[in-house]
Amino acid sequence: MQIDTSRPMKIRRTKIIATLGPATDTREELYGVIKAGADVVRLNMSHGPAAKQIERARMAREVAAELEREVALLFDLQGPKIRIEHFAGGSTMLETGHQFILDAEDFTTPGDNHRVGVSYAGLPDDVKAGNLLLLDDGLISMRVIAVKGRKIVCEVENGGKLASRKGINLQGGGLSISGIVEHDLPHIQLAADLEADYLAVSFPANAGDMVRARELLHKAGGRAALMAKIERIEAIENLEEICDASDAILVARGDLGVEIGDAELPGLQKRIIHTALKHNRIVVTATQMMQSMIENPIPTRAEVLDVANAVMDGSDGVMLSAETAMGKHPTKVIEAMHRICLGAERHFDREGVSAPLTVHFQKIDQAIAMAAMYMAQNVSVQAIVALTESGSTAQWLSRVQSSVPIFALSPNVASRRRMAMYRDVYPVAHQPQGDDLNLIVEELLKLLKQKSLIKAGDRVIVTMGDKTGNQGGTNALRLVELGPE
Ligand code: PGA
Ligand code: MN
Repeated sequence: MQIDTSRPMKIRRTKIIATLGPATDTREELYGVIKAGADVVRLNMSHGPAAKQIERARMAREVAAELEREVALLFDLQGPKIRIEHFAGGSTMLETGHQFILDAEDFTTPGDNHRVGVSYAGLPDDVKAGNLLLLDDGLISMRVIAVKGRKIVCEVENGGKLASRKGINLQGGGLSISGIVEHDLPHIQLAADLEADYLAVSFPANAGDMVRARELLHKAGGRAALMAKIERIEAIENLEEICDASDAILVARGDLGVEIGDAELPGLQKRIIHTALKHNRIVVTATQMMQSMIENPIPTRAEVLDVANAVMDGSDGVMLSAETAMGKHPTKVIEAMHRICLGAERHFDREGVSAPLTVHFQKIDQAIAMAAMYMAQNVSVQAIVALTESGSTAQWLSRVQSSVPIFALSPNVASRRRMAMYRDVYPVAHQPQGDDLNLIVEELLKLLKQKSLIKAGDRVIVTMGDKTGNQGGTNALRLVELGPE
């Protein structure tokens, strides 16, 4: 067997998304996380007050600027996650076989080991006797025996310690609440104000939920790309239309695994990634990828394989949640993920696998991108360089997933940050001068050589517009051979 070690070691094709939290709140730790390779940072609005998230966003932008890195900000809405209310002492012990009541009638009285409040008034209408409810990501389960008015009487099947504010999922799905809810509205405004690069919508059921999110975001003045978190059964049923209505897709294995059963997850992960790529969407695999590193300094072998498999499935990015937000070793987690992605990429070439070279192109820049990738697969080139205002050409280029790095040159900072999530794409700040294409190409090659991204003797494909500076104006393709020193 031959191992291809010719590719430069430092260039990682798959992107790393790190959730920020208490563990990354010191400047040193955040610096470590971004320096070690986080391409995107996630603010999870399910946890922590808005003021804290604003502080995290500011610090992340500062540290990224200091390190001269383009780091995207992913703003993740809480959405309609159904949670129990509080216990008097913060938690209770549930005994297997005992009765327990989820109380949507009186949800303010603190809970005990017989009952707890649920503020979502619709829950009793969404469940019936025989349903299985899963709490705390499935660690605790209870079977519905009867619904009496607004009270759900259950029998505990898997008991254990249950803490305040833990989530509730219905096995098999079917909870009617979806998409954007009341408490998300101020958060959408905040995402717009912070100029978030991506806005993640939790628990969308259909394209309508994404369309509504986009309307609200635009009304708030935001221009973020929209990410749909696939974490309920309805979203699987409506996957194609959700892809159409979104810019990016998240394989949200946490909630999805609870709703749909863990045995379905591996197949679904592959199906979601495949569908997203087919629709030319960005796709990220998430949750428990390096779970043991919340405590330990190294991942388990199973986690190594999981991350590598997500890379081989074609994910643009792999995401960390509690591992970086609340774990003991946020920087070490990124270092480990960086190493594992590189290793997986060395052994696996998707070259051509997802290349939609047979499709009809609707747009000129898409046709140019596909022609570039076709050329890249058939003549040996060391890099593709895209002069792109909006990043759209780079997105088309990266959907093909060849093994050739794509240097995306844009004067637009929002475009550059958005592209930080695209597999194989490395955003570079550059404003082409004048309208002489020969000079423009000469300049950009000089810049990339200075940055040691290309070298003498390399063959490079350049895509650009004959009137540079126009959004979506890419209509030209050049194959350039760099002379010797
Ligand atoms: P969460 O979403 O981390 O916001 O819960 C991801 C998932 O459910 O996997
Ligand atoms: Mn979730």
